Amino acid sequence: MNKRGVLIVISGPSGAGKGTICKALLEKHDDLYLSVSATTREPRKGEVHGVNYYFLTKDEFRKRIDRNDFLEWAEVYENFYGTPRSSVDKMLDEGKNVILEIDIQGALKVKENCEDGVFIFILPPSMEELKQRIINRGSETPESLMRRFTSAYQEINYISKYNYGVINDKVEDAVVKIENILVAEQCRVDRIKDDILTDRKEV
Ligand code: 5GP
Repeated sequence: MNKRGVLIVISGPSGAGKGTICKALLEKHDDLYLSVSATTREPRKGEVHGVNYYFLTKDEFRKRIDRNDFLEWAEVYENFYGTPRSSVDKMLDEGKNVILEIDIQGALKVKENCEDGVFIFILPPSMEELKQRIINRGSETPESLMRRFTSAYQEINYISKYNYGVINDKVEDAVVKIENILVAEQCRVDRIKDDILTDRKEV
């Protein structure tokens, strides 16, 4: 039987660089898988259904909530976002390591149900740098920019709920830190003791 994969939950304020870090991690490691979330927000230019998100109507999303299809879901910036339960469970059962790049509300819900998840909070090098990164994206209206920036201040207080904090000064360095976290997590006695004790029983 496969050893169950590790569930890695990555969150942090808008502009901290979660997306870039996850992309770099996935490019480097073909044993890492990103869970594709469902959302009710409009696709951005270049985004593809089933690749970046499953783009759903609010009605369809609510139906899936009622069917308990989501491991977690949350309302973020007036849209719904959710993690499909069945695909994540399947990948973990197959021994794959799965990344969820989700907001803090969602991460806290996952934490209630998945005690062996690894919760990583990505931080910007400074709040000034965070502001610049959100402005430089150029995709926000002045209102949404203010909203994202204000919530970034509040969100940073949630770091104490996470297992690890990674400052994203340079993407390559942040990626190495997460790789090291994964290696350490894979060596945790809680995760390996059953296999080790079974293997050595007959010696
Ligand atoms: P964006 O609209 O910029 O792609 O994402 C907005 C926020 O929603 C980000 O903080 C992102 O991490 C979060 N998000 C994306 N997918 C999910 C999900 O499945 N569940 C939750 N709770 N948040 C998500």
